[in-house]
Amino acid sequence: MLQKVLIANRGEIAVRVIRTCRELGVATVAVYSELDRDALHVRLADEAYALGGQTAAESYMNTEAILDAISKSGADGVHPGYGFYSENTDFARAITERGVTFIGPPPEAIEVMGDKISSRLAAAAVGVEGVPGRSEPATDLAQIVSFGETHGWPVAIKAAYGGGGRGMKVVQAPEEAAEAMESAAREALSYFGRPEIYFEKYLAWPRHIEMQILADTQGNTVWIGERDCSAQRRHQKLIEESPAPDFPEEVRQAMGAAAVKVAKACGYVNAGTVEFLYQDGEFFFLEMNTRLQVEHPITEMVSGLDLVEWQLRIASGEPLGFTQEEITSRGHAIEIRINAEDPAGGRFLPSPGTITTFRAPSGPGVRLDSGFEAGDTVSQFYDNLVAKLVVWGADREAARRRALRALGEFEIGGIATTIPADVAILAHEDFASARHSTNWVETVLDLSGVSAPALVPPADDEEPRVLREVTTEVDGRRYQVKLWVPASGGTTPGKAPTRTAKPRAAVAGSGSGTVTIPMQGTIVKILVAEGDSVEVGQTICVLEAMKMENSINAEKAGTVKEIKVSSGDSVGPGDVVALIE
Ligand code: ADP
Repeated sequence: MLQKVLIANRGEIAVRVIRTCRELGVATVAVYSELDRDALHVRLADEAYALGGQTAAESYMNTEAILDAISKSGADGVHPGYGFYSENTDFARAITERGVTFIGPPPEAIEVMGDKISSRLAAAAVGVEGVPGRSEPATDLAQIVSFGETHGWPVAIKAAYGGGGRGMKVVQAPEEAAEAMESAAREALSYFGRPEIYFEKYLAWPRHIEMQILADTQGNTVWIGERDCSAQRRHQKLIEESPAPDFPEEVRQAMGAAAVKVAKACGYVNAGTVEFLYQDGEFFFLEMNTRLQVEHPITEMVSGLDLVEWQLRIASGEPLGFTQEEITSRGHAIEIRINAEDPAGGRFLPSPGTITTFRAPSGPGVRLDSGFEAGDTVSQFYDNLVAKLVVWGADREAARRRALRALGEFEIGGIATTIPADVAILAHEDFASARHSTNWVETVLDLSGVSAPALVPPADDEEPRVLREVTTEVDGRRYQVKLWVPASGGTTPGKAPTRTAKPRAAVAGSGSGTVTIPMQGTIVKILVAEGDSVEVGQTICVLEAMKMENSINAEKAGTVKEIKVSSGDSVGPGDVVALIE
């Protein structure tokens, strides 16, 4: 068994890996950026090494600094978590050359599956078909148009090296194809450094169902069970569950067998996930993720297996301790992602800041995987996942009710979170009866009434206020009341919020004609020119912050008088983008 594992990651996944290591008696090594000096994963690890820097590139993706920490600590294994180096073959090879074990698949398997086109081909070669489409780069507009005419619209144009739900363009009709193709290629190059695009049929009402697999170095490969990840925004998962509801057993068996075939086809070893889209009783290969997934805990809850433990055992050369027939599934598990995002109006705007209160739920069937506690700061530089609430229930309805109960207990102050949207999803009858699809959150769910405990816009001479709930007694009866109080002074001693970001509503323009930036980020694109007339709500520019694109919109109709930023500019809260008269 590995003796000492360095976790080349941060946040909840670093904490997750540390916990299993500790249970197995494996020593742990954390690495951290300047901003994460006091982060939970650093506090929990046996040893920790500074990487320096703030951005991912300067810290968690600084190969030299990580290699240095590996040699200083004497770690004999590296767990990459997800994101960062988890699917990076150069990194895997660099550490393997030093005699250190990469806790993940062989680089060759990552390579085949790292590109959506080659993974489609590899899956098709063993009889596992992808969504109907093109399995080579699209080079010509006519290819897309003729595919759409033959197979029907809409068509999805995707980045071959894409990920994170980004870079996909949905083309509804032939006349939209040229622009979509151009912007898909441009985005592919700017996000992923590779311009290759391909296309496939855009399914109208699919569910995203994925299969967890485990493969050892002795050639045993098993499927552990599926996860339904259909509750998504921007093609990114919000809520996942296992087993998939309303999913026939014969389809489950066929999907499991297909996932094992795909894994074997690329010589897969360790934990991996084969993703599918499922519609009208049929499933189609989407991609394979060659790492531990964010949503792995729901599989652990229903299977009783610790997937991180098995990753470590497999990386240590141990055979799987069970056969396919011995794998069981009990009850139902749901994972709720809690991101630092304001879901108001369905916009899911990033909401970095300092967490002032963090009261986690507990009780029967509740597991919380979090990388943060009160006093910690969610930085704009990294993924904004704050915590994952995972619940188990005897059946789906019990799990759904438990999830709502636990979310009701959860209190996070200082930042806006996705909790109100998570509650709206779980409470909706479409979700309760599993009538949702991957498009449902964005096309059906009404989030217009949802509000996060955000800051209210102050008058010019007033400081920002926050909504606070306090307990009071009137004639001996206890009441909860809500008060707007100044952000600098709490209603409870010692609990003053420390958030410093300017309130977004106040700086978003407020109908004033001054379009400003709500949060730190980079201008990706400017969509208007000086002299253009704009409508209320029209997008003026696209701001990338916390790995997400955000539209900065006009709050006043008029003529664009001046544009004060350029594409590529780094901007901060309050910076003026444009003046509208
Ligand atoms: P990424 O690697 O960026 O996560 P995926 O190919 O895994 O991209 O797809 C992410 C999500 O995008 C899916 O779960 C689904 O919601 C949507 N999607 C992808 N391809 C299609 C398609 N052909 N039809 C409909 N939805 C799709």
